[in-house]
Amino acid sequence: MPKKAVVVLSGGLDSTTCMGIAQAAGFETYPLTFHYGQRHSREVEQAKKIAAFYNVPNHRIVDLDFLKQIGGSALTDERIDVPVGKKNGEESEDIPPTYVPARNLIFLSLAAAYAETIGAEVIYIGVSAVDYSGYPDCRPEFIRSMNETVGLATKAGVTGAGIRIEAPLAHLSKKETIEWGLKLGVPYELSTSCYQGGSEACGECDSCRLRLKGFEEAGAKDPIFYKKG
Ligand SMILES: [Zn+2]
Repeated sequence: MPKKAVVVLSGGLDSTTCMGIAQAAGFETYPLTFHYGQRHSREVEQAKKIAAFYNVPNHRIVDLDFLKQIGGSALTDERIDVPVGKKNGEESEDIPPTYVPARNLIFLSLAAAYAETIGAEVIYIGVSAVDYSGYPDCRPEFIRSMNETVGLATKAGVTGAGIRIEAPLAHLSKKETIEWGLKLGVPYELSTSCYQGGSEACGECDSCRLRLKGFEEAGAKDPIFYKKG
């Protein structure tokens, strides 16, 4: 029996790298994509292509319309602007308006329920505390705490081998993440990161800027911005 892993796959750069890492580690992967009314819902379409690239038939797309209804984030409420043109953390220590309330808490809770049901031993999530945008639910202390919580809250945790949450990018910069992914042949041309969600990446929002900087530092060209040919 192959070992199973649930991969939280948003279709962004980090989660796509996690998909490559889980595949390379020999897991049978079960990607889980959440549609929560995000501006960049194009990510969902890209996530489907990434799952197809890895030839995994078990891609699940979960509709979380409630997160759109409650809003509270520039990513789910059109009335809140996505900041552009300033570097992360440069001008303030504040949590940016692109923070989505308790997003990873919700995602990991659902991922744990799914992992338990299918008998997966690991959940991969592409959070990073380096080069990150100040999101509290991307910090290693949150992942540690969530690992403990999943152990306490699940039958797998109480009576079985448990479910482990792996955040392999937690301490990596975007440059290091991209270098690792390129070695693994991760299809970055299929990933998307832009918060604006247009058919072309804007190159100006925090997410685009971090991505561009990462590729530049890794000495590679981002296939999203530099089309082949
Ligand atoms: Zn952008």
